Amino acid sequence: MPAIKQLPDLVVNQIAAGEVVERPASVVKELLENAVDSGATRIDVAIEQGGAQLVRVVDNGSGIAADELPLAVTNHATSKIASAEELFRVGTLGFRGEALASIASVSRLVIRSRQEGAEGAELSMAGSAEAAASPAGCPVGTTIEVRDLFFNTPVRRKFLRTAQTEAGHTSEAFARVALAHPAVHFTLSHNGRVLHDLPPCPAPPAQGEDRAWRDRIAALFGEDLAGALIAVESRDEREEGVIRLSGFVADPKQTRTHTRMQYLLVNGRAIRDRSLQHALGEAYRGLILTGRKPICFLRLEMPPALVDVNVHPQKLEVRFADSGPLYSQLLGTLRSRFLSSDLRVGAPEQA
Ligand code: ADP
Ligand code: MG
Repeated sequence: MPAIKQLPDLVVNQIAAGEVVERPASVVKELLENAVDSGATRIDVAIEQGGAQLVRVVDNGSGIAADELPLAVTNHATSKIASAEELFRVGTLGFRGEALASIASVSRLVIRSRQEGAEGAELSMAGSAEAAASPAGCPVGTTIEVRDLFFNTPVRRKFLRTAQTEAGHTSEAFARVALAHPAVHFTLSHNGRVLHDLPPCPAPPAQGEDRAWRDRIAALFGEDLAGALIAVESRDEREEGVIRLSGFVADPKQTRTHTRMQYLLVNGRAIRDRSLQHALGEAYRGLILTGRKPICFLRLEMPPALVDVNVHPQKLEVRFADSGPLYSQLLGTLRSRFLSSDLRVGAPEQA
């Protein structure tokens, strides 16, 4: 066996990129999450050729200090946590400090950023671990451009699908973040064509966040779907604190052949969870045809200590301290809600 050697930074980052950056949609997700974490009120996403040629995300958030730009693209460098204890009470979407370094190792990356009252700066990289920033004029906030994804890892580039398919995945990633943040103005365009322009939906004090959420759902998926939603709400008081379930499920007449319209936010983060998806399916049993999947937009709010978000590099899955009671809470809440509305059980109508 050859001697043991420490891998060069670029290779380390490319290995990490294998877990974090699967396709243009993963780039969009990571950049959007950074933009949200920066406190932006407006975020514009533009992609070209499904994102394989270009992903650009422009935000009006806090910006990055010029002298910290090289750190931003360094692996395990983050401004969001400073110790392991903080992992269990992270309030930001990011905390692993690996997205930008990973993306930079498999693309041509340009960052332009400026903080309020400071000079702007720009940094460009092309698949290397080296980066130096230079002064640049730009508005407050951050613009990140990712070109030619996987240009230096041809095997991975080959796995990319058609521009249309990649744009579809990107749209989904966009929707997942945009849904969770109705107060932020988001736009998405593909090859110069605007696919989404989602005006900010402030939460009106009287109707609360549910109203803002319904407006955002309508802007993303249309009035037909949003108009037929059933509101649900419940609270489970546990020793560790309250678990609040809220949001909407669709009328059983509205179903899909896939589960992609099952949106589940846990403390503001869109996740997938097989057990909760199963509970959802059980709640609809007898109301929809076999093989059809329900639609939902549900939010779970719980003490951060009850959910570990650091189990998946893309944070698409989380681990609940106790998933049994959550399963029962979801199933019970939906069942009693369905009983109280006059849904025709056992006689599904399908579009
Ligand atoms: P993480 O989000 O896990 O901290 P990233 O690699 O995604 O790691 O980003 C590294 C750091 O760069 C962040 O912690 C943040 O300080 C800074 N950063 C990245 N994108 C932005 C942005 N759009 N606005 C402000 N700061 C940003
Ligand atoms: Mg991040």
